[in-house]
Amino acid sequence: MSSELRQSAISTIATANYDTEPALGSDSTIDTYGVDTFSIRTMRKYLSKDVYKSLLKTIRSGTALDAAIADEVANGMKSWAMGRGASHYTHWFQPLTGSTAEKHDSFIEPDYEGGVVMNFSGKALIQGEPDASSFPNGGIRATFEARGYTAWDPTSPAFIKRDKNGATLCIPTAFCSYTGEALDKKTPLLRSIQAVSKQAKRVLSLFGKEVQNKVTASLGAEQEYFLIDKKFYLTRPDLIQTGRTLFGSVPAKHQQMEDHYFGAIRPRVLDFMSDVDRELWKLAIPAKTRHNEVAPGQFEIAPQFDEVNAAVDQNMMIMEVLRTTADRHGFVCLMHEKPFAGVNGSGKHNNWSLSYDGNNLLEPGKNPHDNALFLTFLSAIIKAVDCYPELLRSAATSAGNDHRLGANEAPPAIISIYLGSQLNDVIEQIERGGAESSKEGGIMNIGADILPKLPKDTTDRNRTSPFAFTGNKFEFRAVGSNQNCADANVVLNTITAQTLSEIADELEKVSADKFDEGLQAILQKIIKDHKKVVFNGDGYNEDWVVEAERRGLPNLRTTPEVLPHLVTEKSIKLFEAHGVFTKAELESRFEVEKEIYEKKIEIEARIAAEIARTMILPVAMDYQGTIANNLITLNDLGVKAGSKALISELEKVGNLVDTLTEQADTLDAAETHETIIPALADIRVTVDALEAIVDNDLWPMAKYREMLFIY
Ligand code: ADP
Ligand code: MG
Repeated sequence: MSSELRQSAISTIATANYDTEPALGSDSTIDTYGVDTFSIRTMRKYLSKDVYKSLLKTIRSGTALDAAIADEVANGMKSWAMGRGASHYTHWFQPLTGSTAEKHDSFIEPDYEGGVVMNFSGKALIQGEPDASSFPNGGIRATFEARGYTAWDPTSPAFIKRDKNGATLCIPTAFCSYTGEALDKKTPLLRSIQAVSKQAKRVLSLFGKEVQNKVTASLGAEQEYFLIDKKFYLTRPDLIQTGRTLFGSVPAKHQQMEDHYFGAIRPRVLDFMSDVDRELWKLAIPAKTRHNEVAPGQFEIAPQFDEVNAAVDQNMMIMEVLRTTADRHGFVCLMHEKPFAGVNGSGKHNNWSLSYDGNNLLEPGKNPHDNALFLTFLSAIIKAVDCYPELLRSAATSAGNDHRLGANEAPPAIISIYLGSQLNDVIEQIERGGAESSKEGGIMNIGADILPKLPKDTTDRNRTSPFAFTGNKFEFRAVGSNQNCADANVVLNTITAQTLSEIADELEKVSADKFDEGLQAILQKIIKDHKKVVFNGDGYNEDWVVEAERRGLPNLRTTPEVLPHLVTEKSIKLFEAHGVFTKAELESRFEVEKEIYEKKIEIEARIAAEIARTMILPVAMDYQGTIANNLITLNDLGVKAGSKALISELEKVGNLVDTLTEQADTLDAAETHETIIPALADIRVTVDALEAIVDNDLWPMAKYREMLFIY
């Protein structure tokens, strides 16, 4: 029976006992927090005072690393890591594939007397040479050198990755070519952090503020994901090969009852989440919130925000911990942006802000209109988003995310800003020539006297906006759950650096005694010219598409439409001006992204055709055969009753079998996304129609109603 695997999955889940050992036994969180990371606290213990101070300066102020301290840092790191059971180290990096990469070396060095010494030099810490010729590079290295180099990033702490039999010291690194071109996601992020800090400092100094350390961009990345039982996963070659279901009809009950969001977390899932949190806390990743999401089987985890470079690394680690912990618990963690049709997909909400010496520049304070500095940064961001919407969009584009953006659950592909009514009122006053008052936030009475009165958040919630102001930060919601959010922050930092630099240029021309009037005029002009990107309405409404077009806002729906914007003259000029990307680097990224997109779509086509031919058609034909034989028997017996239903069923199945055969041929012949995407949609309709009529006992792949509800 073809459905054996599926049926046995259900019966095993029904009787399974999922008690798993907690990762830390009964150890208390406070004692084990950060034990597996070479944090500032740990450094203090393992390094001499001078070396510690010098390293801290690099971390805090972004000053260049003093190469002379590398040997001592390496030694301290090694002692600490060996104390934590590590025998190996690896330069951990983020190539353009979008995931992470590592190649392990052990500390051992034979002493040629039959023993070993454990060795880790400053040079090995600072620079690595993975044989990296197979990483995507978009043509950059073909013209130079095959080797790539990894370079230690001291601003993101080293950490320990464990397996059952050992541990590995992981050193966050940037990855670049022999001639210094970036081949990864981290290098441009580090450059963009510098760029925005530089321009923000210019503006701050015009306001008379001297910054002690750098201006930092911070990130809190909320990560959405699905969990399904591993046994179901193994019945689905489409999930295994592409991360999403290419077939499957939406069950009668999906998310329409709205009973999953924030619902009580099932014990098996909570066990998993607790295990994840403990793993993350050992790595000093401050996992903070966990909850059920909108779709059945969908969940979210969010850490407390951190400086963006470290936060991006942490997010990559969170994704890895989610995957490996899920495996231990008999789950598979799906981080594809749209694993299931008909229910919500998953995103990565990119909460971003700028701060200096502990002051959040996006914090409006009690009277936002008084807060000139806040309004200056707000105006810079409004202008940045209006001037470069296609770049923001490009940072959230992928074959997977194309299924999500604009699907009436995620923000639309049109980039706009949501400010909320109070701030909107303030910017309208600026536009008219000066802010007089700010709308009172007021008190929100939630109607139960025993509960305290909550001060009403002055920014209303709007889940339909791709870029929403949420009180003291912006939340960029378009990023896909599977994406590395470095890209989004590279764009946010760089476009903001650009508009801050324009504001600084203007302000520098204003004489000190005319500062207020000068600033007022600059902000007024920005709001006048760029408020068209502000939209406080419902982003899911079809009217918005029309209205956005009238306003001249781009609506780039798919990756092939988006990617060329990376390499326009406008984009090259911007990124070169701030030292974030060279033209060659942008071109290489464009090539890599395009290639990844085409390959992903092609894989979907091949596996869909294979499933249709080798799994669905045989089952459909089996079923067809059973009906035909029944019909013959009825005829032989001369029984009329029932034969009408059999004939009608036989025709239905027969037609679908014919159609499916043709569609598999079409899919096989399709070679580019233009032909593959519609062919995939067509073949899905037929398979889903067969799923609805073929004997349930025969169906070979786990159904939606099983994957999403049985765990
Ligand atoms: P929600 O948007 O779901 O209400 P929260 O208010 O809890 O979520 O915040 C979501 C994320 O934003 C968390 O990771 C949080 O740490 C982060 N965050 C809060 N303040 C800032 C900030 N100033 N900069 C960047 N991220 C922030
Ligand atoms: Mg949020």
